[in-house]
Amino acid sequence: MRNTLIALLIAFLPAEMLAQKSTPPPPAQVAQEVRDYRMDNEDRIIRELSEFLAIPNIASDTPNIQKNAAHLVEMLEARGIETHLLPISGRGPVVFGKLISAEAKRTVIFYAHYDGQPVDPAAWTDGKPFFEPILRDAAIEASGKRIPFPENSAQNRAIYNDNWRIYARSSSDDKSPIVALLAAIDALHAKKIPLAVNLKVIFEGEEEAGSTNLQRTLELHKNLLEADLLITADGPVHQSGRPLVFFGNRGDIGLDITVYGPVRALHSGHYGNWAPNPAMELSRLLASMKDADGHVLIDGYYDDITPLSELEKKALAELPENDADLKSELGIAKPEGGGRKLVELIMQPSLNIRGLRSAYVGEQAQNVVPDRAKVRSDRWVHPQTGLLRDRPRTDHRGAPRASADREDRERGRLSRLAYADGPGSL
Ligand SMILES: [Zn+2]
Repeated sequence: MRNTLIALLIAFLPAEMLAQKSTPPPPAQVAQEVRDYRMDNEDRIIRELSEFLAIPNIASDTPNIQKNAAHLVEMLEARGIETHLLPISGRGPVVFGKLISAEAKRTVIFYAHYDGQPVDPAAWTDGKPFFEPILRDAAIEASGKRIPFPENSAQNRAIYNDNWRIYARSSSDDKSPIVALLAAIDALHAKKIPLAVNLKVIFEGEEEAGSTNLQRTLELHKNLLEADLLITADGPVHQSGRPLVFFGNRGDIGLDITVYGPVRALHSGHYGNWAPNPAMELSRLLASMKDADGHVLIDGYYDDITPLSELEKKALAELPENDADLKSELGIAKPEGGGRKLVELIMQPSLNIRGLRSAYVGEQAQNVVPDRAKVRSDRWVHPQTGLLRDRPRTDHRGAPRASADREDRERGRLSRLAYADGPGSL
């Protein structure tokens, strides 16, 4: 909570370029005054968050997602924020809000989403807490124990320890940033510090379902969205716990590849060694695409990457150094990247395998040569998928012979048959 608040406040800090007639206090003083407000009002802020978390928010659960939107309208209007719902049929609307400051010259839009990922009840270890906020005295990974929310009274103010964690669906992703933003506005208001900018908000209700209607909805309401800067309040804090401001996003374009074997699964005792195994073929193909250090081997893969500027390199070098802690926390003996730091490596496309499938494992395993093997990969970015499109039948290092024709007859004609599907499909 504290970190998110401070991060969000950065946008409100008075800067010369945002200067207005009534000079606000210097940034350090603003931060201190807001921190004081937060300390004095923690109970109210946490209660507001808890109430919001208690409303189920899966994008496809239309009645409940609408309840979230209605609740958000109440929260925004309570702050005097002019609010409009931008409807999406069958889904939660985009909640738009606007708070104009008389003397501000610039406008900042904050984006956040109020839907959460679908829940798997079996994966929750503590009763039924997915929409029931639970307080723990530390993160679960740090063996945090469940504790009651502290009592609050006029004589005995509830104090929340910085290590405590609230568990509920969307408690961090992405309802907390909404409450933190509103708390920051409350703090500035209570301390009589004028906003240096006009503020707009866009709260989306189907981000976790792929944001399929967001662009169209925003284009329909372009007139509302004039601004100088957009800040997305939807991302992780740094692993050190310190607030983090991102200036860009890593691309995420997926590619599905299916490698075909015989027209039907064959008995491995009767056909093994003779019938080519598509799982083996796919493994060879994938292994040929990346070396053991995580470097992509496909020709030209990195050609269109914009190198980091000196300023960006300097900013990365100044980030807290915590790769060693992460290694032990995550059980990674030897990271990829040939000794380069995490922050440097995430500046590059990665060609990640998201999932692999061929026939069955475990209880359902059969003694077969499977008929096909599939992979879903991600973190390809535009230039790379362009590269695939430009060289559709590359045979580089065993890369697939591509075909849009998935008819079985193809199998008998080609020694290798694979089909790739995605924005960069072949
Ligand atoms: Zn999110």
